[in-house]
Amino acid sequence: KQTETGWNFDNRYANLPNVFFSEMKLNPVESPEIVVVNKPLADSLGLHAEKLRVEELAGNEVPEGGFALAQAYAGHQFGHFAMLGDGRAMLLGEQITPDNERFDIQLKGSGRTPYSRGGDGRAGLGPMLREYIISEAMHGLGIPTTRSLAVVTTGQSVFRQTVQQGAILTRVASSHLRVGTFQYAANWGGVEHLQTLADYTLERHFPGAEKADNRYLFLLEQVIKRQADLIAKWQLVGFIHGVMNTDNMALSGETIDYGPCAFMDTYDLDTVFSSIDVQGRYAYGNQPRMAGWNLARFAESLLPLLNDDQEQAVKMAQEAVLTFPDLYREKWLAGMRSKLGLFKEEEGDKEFVEELLSMMQKHKADYTNTFRALTFNKPEDTVLDGKEEFANWYKAWQERLNQQAQSKEDAHELMKRVNPAVIPRNHRVEEALEAAENGDRTVMEKLLNVLSNPYAHTPEQEEYTTPPDPAYCSSYQTFC
Ligand code: AMP
Ligand code: MG
Ligand code: MG
Repeated sequence: KQTETGWNFDNRYANLPNVFFSEMKLNPVESPEIVVVNKPLADSLGLHAEKLRVEELAGNEVPEGGFALAQAYAGHQFGHFAMLGDGRAMLLGEQITPDNERFDIQLKGSGRTPYSRGGDGRAGLGPMLREYIISEAMHGLGIPTTRSLAVVTTGQSVFRQTVQQGAILTRVASSHLRVGTFQYAANWGGVEHLQTLADYTLERHFPGAEKADNRYLFLLEQVIKRQADLIAKWQLVGFIHGVMNTDNMALSGETIDYGPCAFMDTYDLDTVFSSIDVQGRYAYGNQPRMAGWNLARFAESLLPLLNDDQEQAVKMAQEAVLTFPDLYREKWLAGMRSKLGLFKEEEGDKEFVEELLSMMQKHKADYTNTFRALTFNKPEDTVLDGKEEFANWYKAWQERLNQQAQSKEDAHELMKRVNPAVIPRNHRVEEALEAAENGDRTVMEKLLNVLSNPYAHTPEQEEYTTPPDPAYCSSYQTFC
């Protein structure tokens, strides 16, 4: 059944009721050319990278066994509810890997769909390469994420703030089921379709539902757990998603939809890069709260399934959603302990970590490099060096390290595993994109290479650890 390229599709989403998607007619492009292909990812999917065909990556042809469709979904965008759907993407099918895992293969930028509204259905080369770089960086950091298999140019122009080369990204995801898919079902699908969707989601992502007393409560609880884990991981590396609308929250717990996202250099809870987020709704420090808000919307959409008695259902939903802040804080604090080489939980850990962070905020410390300096026990490399409050904190930290059963060497090894040397810093990403847009891909390839192993702490990574100057950092803006 496998094709020569290695495609091995089994398309279950297409078996859902018709309301959940629109079958797609193709929107062929003029002269597609491959820009980048992800060989290790292709291998893990059972695909032969060198045999991937540009016509398939450009949406000019559907691979054998595929079924092109645009998914229907709704979503709260900056708090406002709307019917959305894939306006510039199409699912080609679900690839079954040699390890018998299932991944959505989706083209992004593949042209208009029934859900495009006023949009052109297209994407620019810069933004698609940006998603490629940052999603692969997230994977390198060990954070659940959709991945990027390839980017091709279309040979056509795309008109945004500027004229850009058109491009299409091939995105790989555990699934594209979102909070917004359930909101869509709850609002327009009817209870029967909602239940079908919930059963499909359970089967696809959450084995073990058979044993649960209430399988839909189980679904809610599992999604909440995965989000607590994911958002904690974002906060721990300083990742700012930028547009945490409910349609951009995947039920699998993967980071999805890399639009205006960016990594923080200087530690500041108020950091916002997205040009459209004028209120700072999705600022770095707000992400946990916004995730909780989105999960409440997910819980609401499940109400008809949770209990026949809707009053009871509301109670169950509220109880579940209220577990999120604690689950998140636990994950975050455990992660912070590791970042400081602390193996054992102690009372006052939260305050101890917050003391460091507030000094970092006050003195505009680089987030990544501060933890890196602590990892290599070089407090003199931080801007906090010489401040009395920091000297006191540092002394207390050293005492903690000395008192624990594990050696300082063990603590250092732990810290190296969780404090990255490199993150995709904005100025380095922009530099790579600019070169690639002008036909030079070597800058991007080099960047991708260091980002694939951010915890290596090798000399070659050194040049990627320099932060931009603070003026660049505070004026940097991202666009959807
Ligand atoms: P996002 O903010 O990227 O999650 O996008 C929100 C919605 O707008 C989704 O339904 C997208 O498919 C749609 N969209 C974004 N850009 C375009 C475009 N250029 N053409 C059509 N639809 C788009
Ligand atoms: Mg989206
Ligand atoms: Mg987007």
